[in-house]
Amino acid sequence: METLLEVKDLKKHFPVSNKVPFKKSKQSVKAVDGVNFNVYQGETLGVVGESGCGKSTVARLINQLIKPTDGVVNFNNENLINMNAAALRETRKKIQMVFQDPYASLDPRVKIGELIAEPMVIHGIGDAKSRQKRVEELLETVGLNKRYADRYPHEFSGGQRQRINIARALTLNPELVICDEPVSALDVSVQAQVINLLKALQKEFQLTYIFISHDLNVVRYMCDRIAVMYLGKIVEVGTFEEIYSQPQHPYTKALFSAIPKESPFETKEQIILKGSVPSPLNPPSGCSFHERCPVAMEICKQKKPNIITQENKHQASCHLVN
Ligand code: SF4
Ligand code: MG
Repeated sequence: METLLEVKDLKKHFPVSNKVPFKKSKQSVKAVDGVNFNVYQGETLGVVGESGCGKSTVARLINQLIKPTDGVVNFNNENLINMNAAALRETRKKIQMVFQDPYASLDPRVKIGELIAEPMVIHGIGDAKSRQKRVEELLETVGLNKRYADRYPHEFSGGQRQRINIARALTLNPELVICDEPVSALDVSVQAQVINLLKALQKEFQLTYIFISHDLNVVRYMCDRIAVMYLGKIVEVGTFEEIYSQPQHPYTKALFSAIPKESPFETKEQIILKGSVPSPLNPPSGCSFHERCPVAMEICKQKKPNIITQENKHQASCHLVN
């Protein structure tokens, strides 16, 4: 399997504004705090975790919508972090995003044909006629009528609007598409259609996906591998099967215990965690999960666990894993 994206020690610390004017604040919100993972060509990597754990920030750091505090983002072996503006512009054509809210992400005053063509206009690709042809082709690719190009976003349903967003993401023939909760705002019946479309497009165009979601049933259907995030860090990575049937990290165990059982003979008890996710402004010492962990030990308060890679590449960061 070839690595398309390699993320190393990625960090985003947002400085906190200080009440004392002209004095630099020393405090920061550690939204993403040393994240490492690889994405292989053609796969779907799911990123899961409770809201506020840093999933969306990771997505925005990858394509440099926000600048990381530190770290490496290698895409096709080139680090986006220290690229010059021209090289970054070229590379970003290959990394596109589909956001959660199909209502907010389309300008209501612009016809959808223009919205889909916009990336070509920005990058100076083609003339008006060839762009129109490409728009029609893209509309059909996502299962919409090519005559819809002249209509406005309000004329479409939520599912159709997400198809339009997907068409727009495909305009420049990307290699990696980062989908941030792409179906969370849609009705359940429409979710399946959009998920199936994403799967079909992946096959047709050899796309690689990062699929961010808090819905583990959607993740189960969509993803090859999964990275579990907690408080700005990845605590476990593995295939869906490994993580579902043999979770290693106590947080993953709790998270996945909430998925309905596959058969009545399975005896998974739902694990309810105490407390709520601590503030990333003041993360706990040692293992950042220790205050909520049902099996925490004395060492967990003092020492951060390293991420351990097992023989089958399943990774987890917990003092109980070795
Ligand atoms: Fe729980 Fe300790 Fe493992 Fe953290 S390191 S998950 S506190 S057992
Ligand atoms: Mg989010």
